[in-house]
Amino acid sequence: MSRYRLLPTPAQQAVLRDHCAHARYVWNLAVEQHGHWHPGRKGAPGYREQCAQLTQARAEYPWLAAGSQTVQQQALRDFAQAMAAFFDPGNPAGRPSWRKAGRHEGFRIVGRGSQWDVRRVSRKAGQVWVPKAGWVRFRWSRTVPPGAKSYRVTMDRAGRWHVAFAVIPGPVPAPGNGQAVGIDRGVAVSAALSTGELLHAPALSARERTRLRRLQRTLARAKRGSNRRGRVRHAIARLRARETDRRKDWVEKTSTGIVRRFDLIRVEDLQIGNMTRSARGTRDHPGRNVRPKAALNRGILGSGWGLLVRRLEDKAPGRVEKIKPHYTSQRCSACGQVDRDSRESQAVFRCTACGFAGHADVNAAINIAAGHAVTARGGDGVTRPVNREPHLLLPSA
Ligand SMILES: [Zn+2]
Repeated sequence: MSRYRLLPTPAQQAVLRDHCAHARYVWNLAVEQHGHWHPGRKGAPGYREQCAQLTQARAEYPWLAAGSQTVQQQALRDFAQAMAAFFDPGNPAGRPSWRKAGRHEGFRIVGRGSQWDVRRVSRKAGQVWVPKAGWVRFRWSRTVPPGAKSYRVTMDRAGRWHVAFAVIPGPVPAPGNGQAVGIDRGVAVSAALSTGELLHAPALSARERTRLRRLQRTLARAKRGSNRRGRVRHAIARLRARETDRRKDWVEKTSTGIVRRFDLIRVEDLQIGNMTRSARGTRDHPGRNVRPKAALNRGILGSGWGLLVRRLEDKAPGRVEKIKPHYTSQRCSACGQVDRDSRESQAVFRCTACGFAGHADVNAAINIAAGHAVTARGGDGVTRPVNREPHLLLPSA
């Protein structure tokens, strides 16, 4: 998703805000309808039926009718897609939920057929067509990807507008060097490569973090509904948005770098959706170690691991392999012994059998690179013809 800063005029902003409100209203209507549905009942209304209901709602509510039908219909289409993702067992997406004013502000536009609704007006500015708002300027901060089919306009909590062109990055040619790399998602570091490289997703600087903490304290003391509270929230939202921007940028650059350097990329098959969902458990089966797990989940989500893997797959289709994560962190990459005591600490691995020592995440990444679906006995679950196995680039320590 390449995102650009949108610069609507005040009059256009009013139109965009209405679009956001309508899209949210329609989305929440769909959520409500599905909320009444239980297994065993007649199916919840599908997209077509909802469109008919939308026409009816537009006839009843002038404020809805005054808005763009394109925007409202698209919200229903997005919802249908979100439901499909939710029912797809291979997709970690959760059930589509309520959208709140001020938090989820956005709508999607689908380009009009062959005519693409973006144009460049100067070296630094472009324009994008939005129904009822006309041509809206945006900052041409990089090339707009060709082949985008739709775009999403959003307003973040800091009140900034963005337009993002939905385009799946095209495949990057493999280097053809026969090299494989393993990537382990870490918590302390964002990703460790089997080459020994440790990659850190950018976070807020120490100064920014101090400022964030101070703002959060101020917010806790500020009176509800006061101007000061509003200003502080705004400042917090801006800091958070800055961090998110940096992470997304980092994922794009990092994934491109990796797929250019290696023919084969192996990652742990972590079902992030399941991991983050399961920590709390249910009432009958309360989760164990809820707090450490919750912290780990924050780390995984925070380090943008899911997005990184998705981007690797987009850019290197057919070159990304998912490896079962069992014991990759307890297995010695030098001798193959599996022993949980070898994991000396979060960062250090020291084999209890052969004495091999190294960065724990790198050790795991080497196991992943080797494609070992390791069993508890330390055996190799996979057998591959040796001559077809891409060779491993080991840390040059
Ligand atoms: Zn060992």
